[in-house]
Amino acid sequence: MATEAALLAGVELGGTKCVCLVGTGPADIRGRVSLPTLSDANATLTRLAQALGDLRAAHGPFAAIGLASFGPLELRRGCAGYGRIERTPKEGWSGVDVRGFFAQRFAEPVGLSTDVIAAALAEGRWGAARDLRDYAYVTVGTGVGVGLIAGGQPLIGGHHPELGHIRIARPAEDRWPGSCRFHGDCLEGLASGPAIEARSGIAPAELPADSPVWDGVAAALAQLAHTLTLTFAPQRILIGGGVALAQPGLLPRIRAALRASLGGYLALPQLEDGMDEFIAPPGLGSLAGPLGALSLASQAAHGLRS
Ligand code: ADP
Ligand code: ZN
Repeated sequence: MATEAALLAGVELGGTKCVCLVGTGPADIRGRVSLPTLSDANATLTRLAQALGDLRAAHGPFAAIGLASFGPLELRRGCAGYGRIERTPKEGWSGVDVRGFFAQRFAEPVGLSTDVIAAALAEGRWGAARDLRDYAYVTVGTGVGVGLIAGGQPLIGGHHPELGHIRIARPAEDRWPGSCRFHGDCLEGLASGPAIEARSGIAPAELPADSPVWDGVAAALAQLAHTLTLTFAPQRILIGGGVALAQPGLLPRIRAALRASLGGYLALPQLEDGMDEFIAPPGLGSLAGPLGALSLASQAAHGLRS
C-alpha cells in the first residue's frame, strides 16, 4: 500500500511579501496565504505564525516547517546568531531571529535557508533544474539574490553567497549613483525593482519595454552571468523574481550581452548552442520561493541539513 506523503509547511519571507504554503509539492498545494512584509518584523512574523496555525487547523498537522528567508542570514549551526537575519537594507529586520521565532512557537522541526538557495533546491527537485548538479537560481525582485548548487549541494562556505552585491562595470558616462544602501551601484543597486524605480521615476511594472533603463538592468545581470560562468561553469542559470518573471524581454538581452561579454572564451556546450536553455526562466515561476520553503521542510522532516 502506498503511504501518503507527509504534509509540509513552507514560509517564504520576501522583501515585499511573505507566502505560506501547505502541501507536499507543486502538484499538491492545499493552502496558500500571502501577507505583506511590514517594517515591523515582529508583527509580520506574528501574522505568519497565525496563518500557519490556521492552515494547520484546516489541513492537519505538518511533518516540518521550512523557512526560506531574504538575507543575509547566519546559517552556521552552533553560532550564537544562527537563524538570524544579519545587517540588512530592509528596514526593521536587522538582527531578527526568524528561525527562533517559529521554533519557539511550533513543535515541528524548522528548516532554514535563504530564499534563493531554497528556490534553487525546489527547481532541482520539481522545476527547470531537474537532473542538474551545477546551477544557479537568481531572483530579481525587491533585491537581487543568488543561490548556487554545486555538485548537487548548496554552496555556502563561510557565508552563503551574496552575489547580488557584486560590483558592476558601467560606461564612464553613466554616473547614476545606484540605490544600494551599502554599495550604491552594486548589482542590486542597479537591477532590483526599487533600483529601477529610483532610476526611472516609474514603477518597473509601468516602465515601457523599450526604455534604456532596461538595457542597464540587462547589462548588469549579464555581468553576474559572466562571473558565474567563470566561477563554476553552471549547467544552467535560472533568472526569476518579480521583475524578471514579468519582463520576458530581459532574458534575450541578458543572453546577447553575456555572449558579447564572454567574447568566445570557454568552449562550453551550454554557451555554444544552448544559450536559451543556459539563461532560462524558473520552471516553477513565482512559486519557486514558496516551494523552496517546502523543500526545506522536507529536508527538516528527514533530519537533513539544508
Ligand atoms: P520579493 O522580492 O518580495 O520576493 P518579488 O520577487 O515579487 O518580491 O519582486 C517584487 C518586485 O517586482 C518589486 O520591486 C516590483 O516593483 C517588481 N515588479 C512587480 N511587477 C512587475 C512588472 N510587471 N514588471 C517589472 N517589475 C515588477
Ligand atoms: Zn549592495
